[in-house]
Amino acid sequence: MENIVDVMSLYPKDMNIYGDSGNVLVVMRRLALYGYAPRLHAYNQGDDWPEHVDIILGGGGQDTGQKKIIDDLFARANQLRDLAAGGTPMLMICGLFQLFGEYFETVDGARLDGIRVLGAYTVGQEKRMIGNLVEHSDDFGDIIGYENHSGQTFLREGTAPLGHVDHDGTGNNGEDHTEGARVNNVIGTYMHGSLLPKNPAIADWLIRQAVINRYGEFEPDQTSEQMFEMARLDALAEEARKVAAA
Ligand code: GLN
Repeated sequence: MENIVDVMSLYPKDMNIYGDSGNVLVVMRRLALYGYAPRLHAYNQGDDWPEHVDIILGGGGQDTGQKKIIDDLFARANQLRDLAAGGTPMLMICGLFQLFGEYFETVDGARLDGIRVLGAYTVGQEKRMIGNLVEHSDDFGDIIGYENHSGQTFLREGTAPLGHVDHDGTGNNGEDHTEGARVNNVIGTYMHGSLLPKNPAIADWLIRQAVINRYGEFEPDQTSEQMFEMARLDALAEEARKVAAA
C-alpha cells in the first residue's frame, strides 16, 4: 500500500495570488511521482482541521485578504506553532510569511499581529518592491522567483534569512539584502512565481522532511515512468529558471 502524505493548503480562498497555488500542485505531483499517496486538505476560515498534517503551504495575499483571515489564523496559532516546533515543514509566501512573523503594520496604519513562528516584523511603505528576483542560498543554490509587496520585513537577531539578494531595493526590505526567513523547517519568503515549479530543490526538501517525520525515512519507490516524468519536470524547471534569471 502506498504511504499517505497529508498536504495542507492554508487559506487558498484568500491567500493565493501570483499563482501561489502552483506550489501545492508541485508538491502533490512530486509526492505522487516519488511513489507516495498525497492527500490534499484545503483549509479556509472556519473549516475543520484535518486529523493529520505533514506539510503546510500558504500563499500571498492583498492586505485585505490578510485582514480577512487573521482571526482564524489566531484561532489556529497554537496548532501551527506546535506543528512548527515539532518539525513540520511549512512554506509561507509573502502575505502569510508576514503573518507568521511578529506583526505587519500596513501602509494605511492598520496593525495585524502575527503568530510569531518566525522572528521577523513588517512595516508597509508606499513604494512597492516589485520584480523578478534571484537570491542565493547555501542550502538550495540560486532561488528564482518574483516579488511584489509593500511590506518591508526585518529579521530579528537569530532568525536566518532564506537567502541573499544582490541589489538594493529588493528582498525583505530593500536595505539589508536578506530575503525570506527560515526557522527549523519553516520557510517564509516573498518569492512568488510560483516558487516551487522553478525551484524543485525546495519542493524536494519540504517533501523529504515531511516523509521522514511521518515514516522515519525517505525511500522513494518509483516506476521507470515516474522517474522519466520527474526528469521531464526537472528539465522544464531548468528552462523556466533560465528564462526567469535572464
Ligand atoms: N499585502 C502584503 C504586502 O503588500 C503582501 C502582498 C503579497 O502577498 N504579495 O506587503
